Amino acid sequence: MSTQKYDDSLVDVAVVGGSIAGCATAIRFSQLGYRVAVFEKKPVTERSYKKLCTHFVQPHAVPLLNGLGLAHLREPGNSVPTKAVFVTPGGVIEAPGGYDPEQPQSYALNLERRVLDPALRDAARRRGVQYFDGTGVEGAEEDGEGWTLDTLGEAGPRRFRARLVVAADGRRSRLATLLGNRAEEHPNERVALFGYFTGIEPPEGNRSVFIMNDRDLACSYPLVDGRT
Ligand SMILES: Cc1cc2nc3c(=O)[nH]c(=O)nc-3n(C[C@H](O)[C@H](O)[C@H](O)COP(=O)(O)OP(=O)(O)OC[C@H]3O[C@@H](n4cnc5c(N)ncnc54)[C@H](O)[C@@H]3O)c2cc1C
Repeated sequence: MSTQKYDDSLVDVAVVGGSIAGCATAIRFSQLGYRVAVFEKKPVTERSYKKLCTHFVQPHAVPLLNGLGLAHLREPGNSVPTKAVFVTPGGVIEAPGGYDPEQPQSYALNLERRVLDPALRDAARRRGVQYFDGTGVEGAEEDGEGWTLDTLGEAGPRRFRARLVVAADGRRSRLATLLGNRAEEHPNERVALFGYFTGIEPPEGNRSVFIMNDRDLACSYPLVDGRT
């Protein structure tokens, strides 16, 4: 019997950031047969999800759920098929076409992050992706044969080797900075307020309504269980 242990510090693909982009990328690479590790700096529980995000999955993205092994998220109880309607100072813009359940690209989905994020992590783990939560990537260096990543987790610093590194660490990407990319900053000067409501009758066809004027925007999204 071999006493050699499987070396989990050597992977084909290291994905930095374990949110939606990171998990989706990890699933795809593992489907291609690569050994993949995801590093997520925040500690993650089974139910963790991104709070500052709404629910609108655009029509071109809906078919991607199937390929990620998440077709069940399109079922009633998990999400609400919807279409966007924009009410603007210049008039009302309706998304064209009707809702056809056989054509995922014919509708958008109101899919909450509390459902999507755990399902994505679960799908990645089921595919054999190693998910290191509470483990931030602090350094990345390339040599002739691949990458060395320096990580810091609860158990202290640890070094990993990977053939390819994917930066999925969000809009203030640490990886991009480490690799010398120039940062761009744009003043925002806005404030947003979100809330969950019950008792609001959904508009016809479960439309998601976006009402905008020159500076402000209000949105409503029909959700599962009669919530908005
Ligand atoms: C108010 C609001 C509403 C939105 N509504 C919608 C919507 O309705 N529909 C839509 O499609 N999009 C929406 N978005 C945009 C959407 O939330 C983002 O595009 C999406 O979440 C980005 O995902 P991501 O995986 O690229 O990055 P993130 O979700 O930012 O994830 C990056 C991850 O990387 C981790 N990380 C960072 N640095 C390191 C490091 N050094 N080592 C390890 N891990 C690291 C972070 O902890 C984080 O978990 C909204 C955004 C906001 C702010």
